[in-house]
Amino acid sequence: MADEFTSVEVRFYEELNDFLPAERRKRAFRVPLSEPRSVKDLIESLQVPHTEVDLILVDGESVGFEHLLRGGERVAVYPVFESLNVASASRLHRPPLRAPRFLADVHLGALVRRLRLLGFDCLYEPPWDDAILAQRSASEQRILLTRDRRLLMRAVVTHGVFLHSDQPDEQMLEVVRRLDLRDEIRPLARCSVCNGRLAEVRKEEVRELIPPKTWHYTDVYYQCSQCRKLYWKGTHWPRLRQILDRVLTDAPPENVSPPTGGGDRDPAG
Ligand SMILES: [Zn+2]
Repeated sequence: MADEFTSVEVRFYEELNDFLPAERRKRAFRVPLSEPRSVKDLIESLQVPHTEVDLILVDGESVGFEHLLRGGERVAVYPVFESLNVASASRLHRPPLRAPRFLADVHLGALVRRLRLLGFDCLYEPPWDDAILAQRSASEQRILLTRDRRLLMRAVVTHGVFLHSDQPDEQMLEVVRRLDLRDEIRPLARCSVCNGRLAEVRKEEVRELIPPKTWHYTDVYYQCSQCRKLYWKGTHWPRLRQILDRVLTDAPPENVSPPTGGGDRDPAG
């Protein structure tokens, strides 16, 4: 068994526990350390993607990913959580991307449609492989959305969101909560089919695209600048309204207490 100086004590908090095997969740455990290694290396060796981590305390002090562990330390690892009530200086240096833009992994088509209906720029062109997804996310500064933790563990990826749920509505809420996007929502701004921008258009200009019955009841139309698909509140509004209601009635995350030294406190399990 590893003694205190050839191992470190590690504890993960909140949803980071989802990445661990059951016996390591919500408790401190020891990890052998045969030689000094960076805390990032240690965290990813435990299969937790670095994109999901926002605060690391070593013996109660916040450190960066490159901090070298030598044995005997206590390491506490916290997730990215907008309302984590901690001085911004102590969080890991990861400047937020100015306007959130996304790139989605395969099998996330339903989530992509929802995000576009909320007005978010979301690229989705399966079947890109992992290398292309990681590269494009980095070069275009897009937040990578995925259920594949190994994709987020690629060194080139700086901004990503691991989706814990496999349900599209719940995934949408995960993204909005995690990035605090409620104030960025712009319904009827983006085409759910192709990601193109929508613009209001005079009905006379698109007369041939409007079903005769709709023509009489609806005056306001939006058209996709790329695929020319036409949107109006009659057909598309109920579904969009449903999605908006789901996001806007979602309870904002509780304010999580900051860790205050040590690694034993457990704000929310
Ligand atoms: Zn379109």
